[in-house]
This record gives sequence, structure tokens and C-alpha cells, in this order.
Amino acid sequence: MSILKNYIDGKWQPSSNKKTFTNINPAVNDDVIGEFAASSPEDVDSAVAAARTAFETWSRMPAPARGEILRRIGDVLTERKDELAFEMTREMGKPHFETRGDVQEAIDTAYYAGSETRRLFGHTVPSELPNKFNMSIRRPIGVVGVITAWNFPVAVPTWKMFPAIACGNTVVFKPSEDAPHSGALLVQAFIDAGLPEGVVNLVQGAGEVGQALVSHPDINAVSFTGSTETGGKIAEICGAEHKRCSLEMGGKNPMIVLADANLDLVVEGILWGAFGTTGQRCTATSRLIVHKDVQDDLLDRLKKATSGLRLGYGNEKDVDVGPVINQKAVDKILGYIEIGIKEGATLAMGGKRITGGKMDNGFFIEPTIFTGVRRNMRIAREEIFGPVLSVISISSYEEAVSIANDVQFGLSSSIYTNDVSTAFKAMHDIEAGITYVNGPTIGAEAHMPFGGVKKTGNGHREGGWEVFNFYTETKTVYVDYSGSLQKAQIDNT
Ligand code: NAD
Repeated sequence: MSILKNYIDGKWQPSSNKKTFTNINPAVNDDVIGEFAASSPEDVDSAVAAARTAFETWSRMPAPARGEILRRIGDVLTERKDELAFEMTREMGKPHFETRGDVQEAIDTAYYAGSETRRLFGHTVPSELPNKFNMSIRRPIGVVGVITAWNFPVAVPTWKMFPAIACGNTVVFKPSEDAPHSGALLVQAFIDAGLPEGVVNLVQGAGEVGQALVSHPDINAVSFTGSTETGGKIAEICGAEHKRCSLEMGGKNPMIVLADANLDLVVEGILWGAFGTTGQRCTATSRLIVHKDVQDDLLDRLKKATSGLRLGYGNEKDVDVGPVINQKAVDKILGYIEIGIKEGATLAMGGKRITGGKMDNGFFIEPTIFTGVRRNMRIAREEIFGPVLSVISISSYEEAVSIANDVQFGLSSSIYTNDVSTAFKAMHDIEAGITYVNGPTIGAEAHMPFGGVKKTGNGHREGGWEVFNFYTETKTVYVDYSGSLQKAQIDNT
């Protein structure tokens, strides 16, 4: 199935200007995924208008009834997990077992957000006056613009859309231009689960469509996942227009390995953290900060394990690592490898595009390890978003934390140690939204808050109990049943 159109007000429809863009399989470049609607500003207008109309009824539906629809969406996604994962792998490249996990995260989020509709708590607190009742309730915000990256093409959009609609908002969703098919298949699952028309609308296209959405006067809030650069542009518009805006952006995530760590566990963690999703995760382990006493032993084991990774098309059997997303990503990653070499780091492994045979038809880059990296090098500071690990040697916990914190990002982090006191210290000392102890930097659970500090985020969180604060306004209600005019804050003494 290949759905190529926008979905607006309950109908699949082409772009009003009939323009399209092509998307291809990054592992098998001559496999064309499809031609997708390149939306015009008029399409964005129609989608926002449909969401605005739907808001009137959707926001008035009892929240648990909205939750029931979310539960059905979870059921449909469960039935389709395998076929959806196949299409996601075809479109964005990570292996099938990873895209199945991506869908599973969406399923968990559907059930979690659905069940939270019975718990959208406000507060009741005592009044300072007699015969008066004080409470706060949650109100939906309105129409939310959802703009996402391609690397978690189903999970991340649902982290935003499910809590948004659970709270009574309606949505205009613009998936990445590198994952339009996954976005469309996700919306098809919503339709088949019985989501009413206009509650979620889909507009396809690139950055200019996202920008039109953010700037639209009838969009009340924007939830964005993507690069720090794009997030900055969105924040400027939202700031000028006083729109609520949640930004989840880039990372340069450190894994600290102390001398007492279990190195077998560390090697497994690095393979998954640094090379899973071909290093194209916001939470990818991109800096390995390792104690000098165990560095050589760890590197020997790591190189051996890395050389065993099988690269290829992720819908084929036994593939561990897929391609990178497109030619632009190939150029950027190879450019950083060049920079690392020029900066004087040692290329310990990998470093090249893989060619020959079937590999010529895809965007494959070798898992790459740089050693001898120093904290001031660009490969230690900038997000590469590819299978490149920078290894930095340290001689103390304090030095490790100082290097871990010496970047502009702060999404995820990890420390491997068997010393419980050091682990607890690290939870406080590392500047990041997430810290793992004895696990790699990735692996979010749907019912836990997710997000970053510094230039990774802007203070909001996806997931868990926190996300419901973003998608609701607090309304304060006073009920005075004294039968007389009571004035608060009047000093009667
Ligand atoms: P990107 O910023 O290029 O694009 C992200 C989305 O924004 C796309 O849908 C794109 O079309 C849209 N967009 C581009 N320009 C826009 C504009 N001016 N106005 C509005 N929308 C615009 O990012 P990408 O290359 O797709 O994704 C990779 C980045 O995403 C990395 O930096 C990665 O760390 C980050 N990411 C972060 C998280 C997180 O939760 N923190 C998760 C996944 C990816």
C-alpha cells in the first residue's frame, strides 16, 4: 500500500498545487517508496481549519471516551506491527527488529495516554475564606502543530499526538519529508480505529510546510522534534507570536566508563548505543569517556565486537545495522570523519562509505571509532548523527563529568560503574535530561518523562506524567457559597 496524499478533514487529497516529492529506500535506492504531496500554504490553511472545527466537538467529548479511541488505535497498531515495521524499515533504513520496537513504543503510548484520560487531575486546595471552594482544572489548548524528524517515524509523532488528543486538542501533523509514508500509514491506523474526522490532519512536505504551520495564526501550540538549528527558528516564530512550543533537539550523549565497570556489559551497551539506528538517534552514544586503566582492554573487545556487525537492508535476515538516511547524511558524516582526522584524532576503525555489489545501491557507512579524541575537537562537541564514536580518555570521575558536561547539548547520558555512591553522585552531576546507570544512553519508556537540557530542549518533556502539562492549560476555579461578597487579600486586621 502506498498512500501519497494529504489527509485533511477526513479525506485523502492531493496538494492543491498538485506538486509532489519523491522518497526512496535508503538501503535499495532504486526502490521508490512513492511520490508524496508537496503541500501548499493553502493545504496548511485547510488542515488547520479542519482541526479548528473538529476541536469544538472533540474537546467536549468526555476524556475517557477519547481514551477509548486511543485504546482502539493501540489495538490496530498491535495488529499491524509487522507490516508497518516493514514499511518503516523500507523507508528510513533501521532494521526490522528496531522498527518493530518503534511501533511497540507507539502502542505503549496509546494505552498509556488512553488510560491517563481517566486521571487528568486538577487540584483542590483549601480556601483562605470560609464557605469557598478552590480548585484547578485542565483545559485543552486548541490546535497543535506536530513536526517531527524521520528517525523514529512512528514512536515520536505518537509521543506528541496521543497525549495531545487525550487532552482534547486536535492536531495538524507534518512528518519528515524523509518518512512521509510511515506518517501516512500511522494516520491510516487512526482512521481505521475510528478517530473522528478532523481530529488529526496530515500535511506532507519539507521545511517550508513546517514553517507555514508554525506561523499559522490558528495554531495554538507547536511540538517539534528535530535539529537544534530548526528548533531555534521555530522558537523565534513562537516567541514572537506567544505560542506555546515544545522543542526536542540534538544531542552529543556521553557514556562514562569507570575502571570498576563490567566491560562485557559496556561493549554490548556501546554496540546498541553508538551503532543502533546507525548512530542516527538523538540519544546515540557519541562520546565514550573511558578510564585510562581499562581503555585498551575495552577498545580491543569493542573493535572485535564492532567488526562482527552485519550491515545491509534491514528487512533482510540477520542485519544489525542499516544505511544512513540519504546522500546529504553520507556527505555530512564523511565530512566529520575528515575533520576528525585533520584534528589529529586516531581513526581506530571504519571511516569509509561501503561500496561494491548491493552496497552501491544504498547509503552505507562503516561503524567508525576515533580514539585519542580531546574535548575541544569538533568530533567531541558537534552532533554528527551517524555511526561515529569518539573515545576520550580520563583518569578520574571528576574529569569524566567535566568532559561530559562540556558541550552545548544535554539529552541523554550514561555511566558504567559498580560503585553505588559514584552512580548516585553522577545522577546529580551530569547535565542531561536522562542518566542511565549501567545501560547505554538510549531506550525511553512511554510512561517516563523524556527530554533534554541546554540546547537540546526548552524545558518541556515528552512522555510520562509531564507531557500532559504541555497539552493543557490550567484553569483556576473559585466557588463562593457563602452568600456574601468575600474579598480575598484584604487585610482585615
Ligand atoms: P530537521 O530539523 O532537519 O527536520 C525536522 C523536521 O522539521 C522535519 O519535519 C522538517 O521538514 C521540519 N523543518 C525543517 N525546517 C523547518 C522550519 N524552518 N520550520 C518548521 N519545520 C521545519 O531534523 P532531521 O534531520 O529530520 O532530524 C535529525 C535531528 O533531529 C537531529 O538533530 C536529532 O538529534 C534530532 N532528534 C531529536 C530527538 C529528540 O527527542 N530530542 C528525536 C529524534 C531526532
